[in-house]
Amino acid sequence: MKQEKLLYLETFGCQMNVSDSEKIVALLKGIGYGETSEAAQADLILLNTCSIRATAENRMYGHLGKFKSLKKRKPELIIGVGGCVAQQEGEQLLRKAPFVNLVFGTHNLQLLPEMVRAAAAGKRRIETTFIDNEERFDLFPITGAEEGGVTRFVTVMQGCDNFCSYCIVPYVRGREISRKAEKVVQEIAQLAAAGVTEVTLLGQNVNSYDLKSPGEPDFPELLHMVAQIEGIKRLRFTTSHPKDISERLISCFAEIPKLAPHIHLPAQSGSDRILAAMNRGYTRAQYLEKIAALKSACPGIQITGDIIVGFPGEDEAAFEDTLSLVEEVQYADLFSFIYSPRPGTKAAELPDDARRAEKQPRLERLQERQRQVTLGRNQSMVGTVQQVLVEGPSTSGEELFGRTGGNRGTIMMGERSLAGRVVDVRIIEGLQTLLRGEIINA
Ligand code: SF4
Repeated sequence: MKQEKLLYLETFGCQMNVSDSEKIVALLKGIGYGETSEAAQADLILLNTCSIRATAENRMYGHLGKFKSLKKRKPELIIGVGGCVAQQEGEQLLRKAPFVNLVFGTHNLQLLPEMVRAAAAGKRRIETTFIDNEERFDLFPITGAEEGGVTRFVTVMQGCDNFCSYCIVPYVRGREISRKAEKVVQEIAQLAAAGVTEVTLLGQNVNSYDLKSPGEPDFPELLHMVAQIEGIKRLRFTTSHPKDISERLISCFAEIPKLAPHIHLPAQSGSDRILAAMNRGYTRAQYLEKIAALKSACPGIQITGDIIVGFPGEDEAAFEDTLSLVEEVQYADLFSFIYSPRPGTKAAELPDDARRAEKQPRLERLQERQRQVTLGRNQSMVGTVQQVLVEGPSTSGEELFGRTGGNRGTIMMGERSLAGRVVDVRIIEGLQTLLRGEIINA
């Protein structure tokens, strides 16, 4: 019997990359590659990269360096780089890392089987062309349909037209393109038939889903369509842009029982001056109005967000505005980072006077405050009963792991056969990153 070849795949960055990596695995399975978690055993090493911050990019180059020695020992090893760094660097990447065989951009996953075959025949290939139509969503096998599983990401749109001044996404993912609603529904119906019970509709800015095609369903309509699919018990979406979240979308939280009471709504800053410099398209007051409307449509909704600390021009007063916004929103969780200039973006040209020595303590203050809020919120859930969708065994393997509707990770004792079921769980402990509970009604 012919020996299966082995793929070692590392994924950096956001959920879009995680979803792309699932597609890569399915595509390469089609040409005889199974997966391995040991790079040393692989015949093909792929890195699916992120360039949202310089640290992510540097980590990618650090990783590549490690694989160079493997290639020396095994010259037939194929090494490839895809994702946002590949899109951005293109040929430069082959120059910086001459032992790399192939480079594929964010719109070129479907070419991988052919590129891998060419690499095996000794040809180095680079593909970074954008495909600016919705056909590119359907160039892949539907991943997960054969494996089942509990929860899946389903891409509904890609790219972004917003050009926030700090962000590289519009340059490395291209302009917004939405996938036809009937194709989205078809994929989710197939996943549901295979036993998937929760889907997260994925896009860089899902709120502007299909706004370019008058007469086609917009995002609230798409949510209603997906909610009708039999077998789907819970529905989520990410990511939302505060300027584009409409009253109709907010109403969906009240109208669609399957829509989980959680939203990730990145504010990025609480200062109007900094928000304008970021080209975010909303003010602090407008952001807070949207938060109030969400809390009123869906009492108990869990809100998570992103904050950039130390954007060019951020002084102490602007940072205090951010702190007070965070205090007012009471996020369930917050992802916060020090600003990282990305080459080619507008913000990279702005004078940035503040030194890292000033930014770091600001980040620490913000994170410390948020840790207290998160812990307090988790502790306040003790004694409540939450509907938890069981995803499978916990990391230790001894308990079960699942998520509440509000997306709080929860561990509890129970049978593995409960995977995919929504169970009632009484919360007995609120930890920093998790809830612990006991199943009271399976
Ligand atoms: S909305 Fe702004 S931050 Fe989000 S992907 Fe688009 S440009 Fe980047």
